[in-house]
Amino acid sequence: MKAIVKLKPEPGIWMDRVPFPRIGHNDVLIKIVKTAICGTDIHIYNWDEWSQRTIPTPMAIGHEFVGIITDMGSEVRGLKAGDRVSAEGHITCGHCRNCRAGKRHLCRNTIGVGVNRPGCFAEYISVPASNVFKVPKTISDDIAAILDPFGNAAHTALSFDLVGEDVLITGAGPIGILAVAIARHVGARHVVITDVNDYRLELAERMGASAAINVTRTSIDNTVRQLEMKEGFDIGLEMSGNVQAFRDLLAAMNYGGRVAILGIPTGEVSLDLTQIILKGLKLKGIYGREMFETWYKMTSMLQSRLDISSVITHRFPVDDFMQAFDVMRSGQSGKVILEWV
Ligand code: NAD
Ligand code: ZN
Repeated sequence: MKAIVKLKPEPGIWMDRVPFPRIGHNDVLIKIVKTAICGTDIHIYNWDEWSQRTIPTPMAIGHEFVGIITDMGSEVRGLKAGDRVSAEGHITCGHCRNCRAGKRHLCRNTIGVGVNRPGCFAEYISVPASNVFKVPKTISDDIAAILDPFGNAAHTALSFDLVGEDVLITGAGPIGILAVAIARHVGARHVVITDVNDYRLELAERMGASAAINVTRTSIDNTVRQLEMKEGFDIGLEMSGNVQAFRDLLAAMNYGGRVAILGIPTGEVSLDLTQIILKGLKLKGIYGREMFETWYKMTSMLQSRLDISSVITHRFPVDDFMQAFDVMRSGQSGKVILEWV
């Protein structure tokens, strides 16, 4: 079958043919309808140090998708052929302490779809049935294809009570932009987002940010004064992976502030710990999505009129995948969708 494959251990991505996936007793076979390109796929395209350490070649990549179940193993219950589904891309072991406690997002043996095993940029994918999430009818295919990054945003943003709080988000990538929408939806007061990319800041503004600031031109301090915030931010969401952005965020936090960190820096980071200590900040690292609490929260927010559709800026038929990767790599995009049927 046709797939978008990391064929060779060098920069680039290729369309190729790969073996049709096999399903075990507990797996489902899904015919892919739409997929979305993640920042991770761009790392794999660029063949950075992390990819070189992590990605086997050749392998179909991709983990953000919606599709239709066409077949399933004999032990699968509660799903049927024809169900429209997405899936949690973190496959967990089921036997470690956290898995057994129902905290699968903290599994120490997590395997990534499209990272450690074949991904969804293909005509079909096989995944464990326990990873599948049935998509409610009211949610479009486009939105269903981006539940994975929306889930990263939801897991991060919903880590703390945002009602009436002033929220600072560093990084207006697709996930930062989605976090703006969530913070607004759940009742934050000021939602300020930073980036160095005007295209993305504009998308964030459309999502309802109180201020979307380009830190190469405006300081967070200046915005804080304009919004007449007397103290600092109550909640910080680090969604850039950029060290300076994280330092700026810590400096802008109020005493007792709470910070969730999703952005992954490229290497070791040096920080002014004194600031964290003296301000009594609470820091929380975020990985993936809570299985499946985050998925239920996401669909509930969408069903209670949260509109995130403007984060999708481009759509391409899958044969134009190279154009899609180019747009994503340019930074002049929100989410980019690939259409498989
Ligand atoms: P992205 O790379 O598209 O977005 C990051 C944004 O940060 C970019 O728009 C970039 O211009 C901006 N940025 C760069 N320097 C900045 C600065 N000094 N100040 C403010 N913004 C700055 O990534 P994304 O897909 O939106 O994901 C956000 C982050 O979360 C990435 O670091 C990604 O690796 C990470 N991530 C983590 C998990 C997890 O499970 N922890 C999951 C998905 C993504
Ligand atoms: Zn586990």
